[in-house]
Amino acid sequence: MSGAFGYDRERGLFHVFRARAVVLATGGIGKAYQITSNSWEYTGDGHVLAYDAGAELMDMEFVQFHPTGMIWPPSQTADTEEEGFRYTQGDKDARRPPELLTRDHVARCIVREIKEGRGSPHGGVFLDISWLKRRLPNAREHIKKKLPSMYHQFLKLADIDITEQPMEVGPTTHYMMGGVRVHPETQMSTVPGLFAAGECAAGLHGANRLGGNSLSDLLVFGQRAGQAAARFAKENRANSIDEAQVETAARQALLPFEDGTGTGKDGGPFQVQQDLQKTMQDLVGIVRTESEMAHALDALSLFRSRSARIRIGGNRAYNPAWHTALDLRNLLTVSEAITRAALERKESRGAHFRDDFPEKDPAAGRFNVIVFRDGAGAMRVRREPVAEMPAHLKQVIEEMK
Ligand SMILES: Cc1cc2nc3c(=O)[nH]c(=O)nc-3n(C[C@H](O)[C@H](O)[C@H](O)COP(=O)(O)OP(=O)(O)OC[C@H]3O[C@@H](n4cnc5c(N)ncnc54)[C@H](O)[C@@H]3O)c2cc1C
Repeated sequence: MSGAFGYDRERGLFHVFRARAVVLATGGIGKAYQITSNSWEYTGDGHVLAYDAGAELMDMEFVQFHPTGMIWPPSQTADTEEEGFRYTQGDKDARRPPELLTRDHVARCIVREIKEGRGSPHGGVFLDISWLKRRLPNAREHIKKKLPSMYHQFLKLADIDITEQPMEVGPTTHYMMGGVRVHPETQMSTVPGLFAAGECAAGLHGANRLGGNSLSDLLVFGQRAGQAAARFAKENRANSIDEAQVETAARQALLPFEDGTGTGKDGGPFQVQQDLQKTMQDLVGIVRTESEMAHALDALSLFRSRSARIRIGGNRAYNPAWHTALDLRNLLTVSEAITRAALERKESRGAHFRDDFPEKDPAAGRFNVIVFRDGAGAMRVRREPVAEMPAHLKQVIEEMK
């Protein structure tokens, strides 16, 4: 580990950072999918920087889709609206309303409704929370207080008052449980001096993250990463920067400008990105099968060839086509990692649902899927036995039972 190479998106200038330790904290991968709650920054940069540097990725098959909530299915949940309401008020004997099932479950139910032709006009479903007014005297204020941004967004963008009318919602790629494989005490990856924390690191949330747990993850494991990286930097000498590597990185970054002709015949970067997102959404999304994912791998390989041929015009300052051409490289790699890991996990668990293996397999619960680059540069997967839980953690779990 000798540092990092980067560019400044506004001016297009390159920078070389010398560092004895590097902490990756670049967030998730949502932009690999067509529908996502994630911002434009979530292109899997940290995941791929680590992978390219020789680190291992873990749990890449576990991508969380947020359902936004819906009234389905009736089983295992409250029989009546009244029971569901009692649950929300803390009644331990009441069962929860269906929209409060785990995110993966509700998202799958929405997909089933849509596939069976009961979707809403724009390919989602209707979520109606206006019934609260029959239960609470101040329902309108209660909804506005609990869901301020949703209330505001629907009112401003769709002219819909969610305290009175149903809203159209659908599953959206929300959170990546998979990421750089790190040591839980130090957050160091399998590459000495390279650390990762937050959404781009793997391990803490297993197959599914519970709502709210990301922020506590960041506080605890972000601190561990920072402290361990500082310690590492103190205890180790700086490695020299390989100038040839820097030159190669700069040359590769400028490749899309090479002949200055602008968009080639395969479509520009935006078209390739859209095609990639649609493929991941349709073939490696909420419900997965072996044949669809095999098809996705073929498609990804074609997108990679198209991406390598992308040529853009303009210059380096304020050039979104260039940014997208560069983002595509990482999006393609994380998409391939997700697909290969999802093919390897022949069961359904947490956020990963295989229509061809719909049950949880206890034997599969004893390994993690690891994605790594072999000596020839090809992506490989292997199974790694889950480490035995330390005694002090087992004790905490016993105490909580
Ligand atoms: C709509 C929404 C609501 C959520 N609500 C909750 C909630 O209520 N509770 C909860 O616990 N979690 C919630 N989450 C999840 C949580 O917000 C994220 O998992 C968490 O913020 C991730 O933190 P991070 O530090 O890993 O990444 P981020 O906070 O996203 O930071 C990553 C940073 O890295 C930068 N970056 C990315 N790539 C590069 C690059 N190549 N070079 C330089 N910089 C780069 C980005 O610009 C960004 O500033 C929500 C997520 C979303 C999308």
